[in-house]
Amino acid sequence: TARPDEDLLAGLNQPQREAVTYRGPALLIVAGAGSGKTSVLTRRVASLLRTKEAWPSQILAITFTNKAAGEMRERVGQLIGDRAQGMWISTFHSACVRILRREAEQFGFTKSFTIYDSGDTRALLKRIVKEHEADAYGLTPAAAMGRISKLKNELTDAEGFARSANMSDPAERKFVDVFQDYQRALQRANAFDFDDLIGQTVYLFRAFPHVADVYRRRFRHILVDEYQDTNHAQYALIHELTRPVGSDAPGFSSGGMMIFEADPADDPEKAPASLTVVGDSDQSIYAFRGADIRNITEFERDYPGAKVVLLEQNYRSTQNILGAANAVIGHNFDRKDKKLWTDVGAGELIVGFTGYSQHDEAQFVADEIETLHRGGLDYSQVAVFYRTNSQSRALEEIFIRAALPYKIMGGTKFYERAEIKDALAYLIAVSNPADEMALRRIINRPRRGIGDVTIESIARYAANEQITFRDALANSSVLGVGPKIQAAIAHLDAVLAEASELMLPSTGELAPPTAVADGLQLLLGKTGYTDALRASRDAQDEARVENLDELVAVAREFARNNPEGTVIDFLAEVQLVSDADDLEDASGSVSLMTMHTAKGLEYDAVFVTGVEEDLIPHRISAGEPGGPQEERRLFYVGITRARKRLYLSLAMTRAQFGEISVAMPSRFLQEIPAELINWRQSPGDVNSRGGMQSRALNARRPGGGGGSGGPGGGRRYGDDLVPKSTSIERFANRIPAKVRDNGDLELSAGDRIRHDDFGEGRVDAVTGEGAKRVAHVRFEKAGPKKLLIKIAPIERI
Ligand code: ATP
Ligand code: MG
Repeated sequence: TARPDEDLLAGLNQPQREAVTYRGPALLIVAGAGSGKTSVLTRRVASLLRTKEAWPSQILAITFTNKAAGEMRERVGQLIGDRAQGMWISTFHSACVRILRREAEQFGFTKSFTIYDSGDTRALLKRIVKEHEADAYGLTPAAAMGRISKLKNELTDAEGFARSANMSDPAERKFVDVFQDYQRALQRANAFDFDDLIGQTVYLFRAFPHVADVYRRRFRHILVDEYQDTNHAQYALIHELTRPVGSDAPGFSSGGMMIFEADPADDPEKAPASLTVVGDSDQSIYAFRGADIRNITEFERDYPGAKVVLLEQNYRSTQNILGAANAVIGHNFDRKDKKLWTDVGAGELIVGFTGYSQHDEAQFVADEIETLHRGGLDYSQVAVFYRTNSQSRALEEIFIRAALPYKIMGGTKFYERAEIKDALAYLIAVSNPADEMALRRIINRPRRGIGDVTIESIARYAANEQITFRDALANSSVLGVGPKIQAAIAHLDAVLAEASELMLPSTGELAPPTAVADGLQLLLGKTGYTDALRASRDAQDEARVENLDELVAVAREFARNNPEGTVIDFLAEVQLVSDADDLEDASGSVSLMTMHTAKGLEYDAVFVTGVEEDLIPHRISAGEPGGPQEERRLFYVGITRARKRLYLSLAMTRAQFGEISVAMPSRFLQEIPAELINWRQSPGDVNSRGGMQSRALNARRPGGGGGSGGPGGGRRYGDDLVPKSTSIERFANRIPAKVRDNGDLELSAGDRIRHDDFGEGRVDAVTGEGAKRVAHVRFEKAGPKKLLIKIAPIERI
């Protein structure tokens, strides 16, 4: 008889089938890039549901990004229909937020807690470090932040650290003070930082076994993608969840790794959940965030009897691309050798290119993408990778001039913009009145004449009376501040109260779905926040208003998807948006991102740029133990994203780290067999033609001083204008008047123009309308280009 999930196995190879159908307490799937790990995990979930071995609510699947979670949910839905509802498919952080929202009251928090992202954490630590004058001991806010995060990832809390610290060392004592104060401040603000989301959930499970049991009973099947990048806290969380129900009850030993202590046959109700993890130790690239590769290499020890499945056939890339990937990763010495193979054939050669400068390199990338596009490839099937975010600038500059649609994944983070943080702080001030940071942030934005002296006296009053900052604000009439300030505070208080009534009605009724968006508009409107931006002469403030409109749109969208969602749910969602996630979909645009962000993704054509020493491997890696090996894995992640075409490019000079320096080809290039790369312009070509000064295209704007990011970089457009997403239209509308704005420059076919960089040329045609008008120009030296007329540095001659 046919298995009910037979159709789910169609097209899978033998080990893949096994990975989907194996049933047992623990399963480890280890395999190289593109071998179907994520696909298999998805099908395994579908299979468990199809065979009715599990209800959707019994499944917990962990992915690395929210985006990946969304994709997996959708895919499972396609495979088995809408039974996918109710499943927990999410990142570690999102899963923990959901658990903490339900359980926070167990240990001194309320369910409206705030999540502090790295910006909030930095701000808070800055204050604490200052209070303790800790920088005199070499403890900067950044250093404190890094150290605290690391300790939390190892599940060491402030008290635990204090016990083991060398308290005779004054610097160490300072750090302990800062750490403890930081933790107390979080608790007072009813807030968790990112690391706490995981660490405190582990703490919760360990301290309250009956709570842990609720989740152990619930999640019968736990699946984790990208397991090689879990850190110790995440590992411990999974471990807590996969212990037998009741294992912490009196009389039950809780020490050590004894997950099979209870005999499942005795009481199936109490058996531990089944655990499936998939990963590739060659793709472990988050050691700097505490990822511990041992979690995968020691899985068999931790879960004795675990089944191991190896996948070796790659379904993503051509043989040439795989050949390069295998050769590169083969240079790491601490790994198990595994050979990926494919049967799709050799495919195209890898294309290599060496530019004189990063602009030259970017121009090559843009030209090549246009060629691919003309050949029928959709822009959305093209990705450009780099090692550091700052490298995107040169690419963007050229892409904008070439009117090439692109979008940046991660990097320019929407939710880190000042105006967005302000708007969210207003929402937090309503939803979590204990959050002093949020109130401090908005108390004088827009300017209301409330200065530091007033703020500190409110804070003192709150501390003395043991009330929240928000309550102190409401009672501020006792502080004896001047009437104007008093009026300003009273007004703010009234607006917050009104928004609060709208979003979280004191009647306890469920607010209407539009309440979050309406409340946000109310807050920004009645406080005069938006008006202040509108009245500003600063062109960037116009873009800020647009961004706020977009946030309101996000809130409306949220209401559509979560009709019962409250402002608290909304905040949780936006605060968990991670690097790889974005508000808009990338359809129709080229994707730009760092190699870290690229993990798990795939594209028909991939450009890995800046393949130079000091970038990849990055120069900071040189001093780190295992650093160069981790960089090699990162490069491996980059090149294995490519399905059909891979481009490796570099520049001979690069404005980097605030100076223009001569760059050397990355050692990783030499590790790729020479016959796999077709050099359009090799490093040797560039040298033999007399170096970087000679080429007209690059002998422009010397840009030596100042370190503004390189020739032309940022000077013309200004940093804030780098769009978070570029439909051309959005970008064109944001060009402030003080930079180049050709406005209504009339051009038509036959006109001759001069371009700052490309020299003279003739207009062949003009397409598009308004801000999106594009001139197709044939330049005498630089060849054909497409230019966005509104902003291109051109004039008619
Ligand atoms: P990474 O290590 O990069 O995360 P992965 O191992 O998770 O990769 P997937 O993303 O699951 O690999 O799969 C890579 C590609 O191969 C996807 O496009 C997937 O649809 C395809 N694929 C996987 N298995 C098969 C198969 N048996 N037949 C055809 N295509 C497959
Ligand atoms: Mg994957």
